[in-house]
Amino acid sequence: MASTTCEKTGGNRTRHGVGLAAAIALLAAGLVTPAAAQAQTTGSIFGFPPPATQAPSAGGGHPLMTPQALAEAKANFPQCIAAMWPLAQAKGVSRRTFDRYTGRLEPQMKIMDFMDSQPEFSKPIGAYVNMLVTDWRVKKGREVLERYKAIFDRAEKAYGVDRYAVTAIWGIESTYGDPDGIGSRNVLESVATLACIGRRQDYFRDEFIATLQILEKGDVPYDHMKGSWAGAFGPTQFMPTSFQRFAVDFDGDGKRNVVDSIPDIIASTANNLKLDGWEFGKAWGYEVDLPQGFDYRLANRNVRKSLAEWNALGVRRPGGTAYPRPTETAYLLLPAGANGPAFLMMKNFEAILKYNPADAYALAIGHLADRLRGGGAFSQPWPKEERGLSKAERLEIQGRLAQMGYDIGNVDGILGQKTRIAIQDFQARSGLLPDGYPDVALLQQMRR
Ligand code: CA
Repeated sequence: MASTTCEKTGGNRTRHGVGLAAAIALLAAGLVTPAAAQAQTTGSIFGFPPPATQAPSAGGGHPLMTPQALAEAKANFPQCIAAMWPLAQAKGVSRRTFDRYTGRLEPQMKIMDFMDSQPEFSKPIGAYVNMLVTDWRVKKGREVLERYKAIFDRAEKAYGVDRYAVTAIWGIESTYGDPDGIGSRNVLESVATLACIGRRQDYFRDEFIATLQILEKGDVPYDHMKGSWAGAFGPTQFMPTSFQRFAVDFDGDGKRNVVDSIPDIIASTANNLKLDGWEFGKAWGYEVDLPQGFDYRLANRNVRKSLAEWNALGVRRPGGTAYPRPTETAYLLLPAGANGPAFLMMKNFEAILKYNPADAYALAIGHLADRLRGGGAFSQPWPKEERGLSKAERLEIQGRLAQMGYDIGNVDGILGQKTRIAIQDFQARSGLLPDGYPDVALLQQMRR
């Protein structure tokens, strides 16, 4: 989710909320996949909108985030809400519903702090995956699978999405419905605030209207629509507009209640993955070993080859297990560079990326699903990195690459596809292994 100039404000396709700390770490890490972001018109990682790729962080200078702009927007809040009535009406919201739920709205200014807060350093992807895919989460997930087996049986048949993927999303979005993971903020208050105040108003206007539509239909009771500060709600953290597209009634009560109904939660999440292109019975990707002398520049998400072709290049699964469907196409991803595990990524990985376009997120989901299915840990350990890069360091890497004449898009601190390709080229010219991985060592090399 993110790249170049576009702070995807337009037609939203959005998602979901891993715990806030993790989300912020990811945002700060710039662990986002521009390709995925471009494939969808917007994207949000973890229940909040895409990071501002133009707007500086920490309120630093976005014209809508200055203290004066915030105060003015706050004062104008009632008028702003009232002015959205025609939009709501056009989407089938009744005057009665609109008045009932907007009459007592108060802006939640604390949200503006969350919107721009970032840790100083990003979290290395290995630490991120290890934090999310724990033995405890695997154990809990197996209990969930056992408890709701009959529902999973039915949902798997109806939607063609395997139960492990759905459970992994449930487990990572909210630790299987833990209230702390879901969040306790009133969704309408959050999205109303964000629709009228701060730098993401266009984006959240759609979420506000969608929330009113949900309340109009009575799919989820008002008091049960609680979630993250950015409006993602329920155990699998649907944003209101995602809910509108993907939620289904699977227990037959006429309501699509992704908060209180386990069948609706499971089926709606499966339906979302299915519409994002999930193919039943197929892997999301494979961990692979690379041969001696491998050309690391093939690790590029625009380089797609069949598994048979990768196999011919010596890219094999650990232990030499054959690829079940050699004609499937895949790209090679080295999420932590040459010193970490390598993966061939296929269509189901991209389905997860549509759900939430960050490699770290999608990898955690895919890996947890495999663990739930009975699979083991990755065979190659993650590199031991003390810390990720700071935003200043990421900007410096981009600035230096731009100075060298590389086209890396905007210098925005988000190290996307163009930056990775430029890094690979720089590494190759400098006699380094061109794995495209930006870390402290790379920056030191650039400074020399
Ligand atoms: Ca229902």
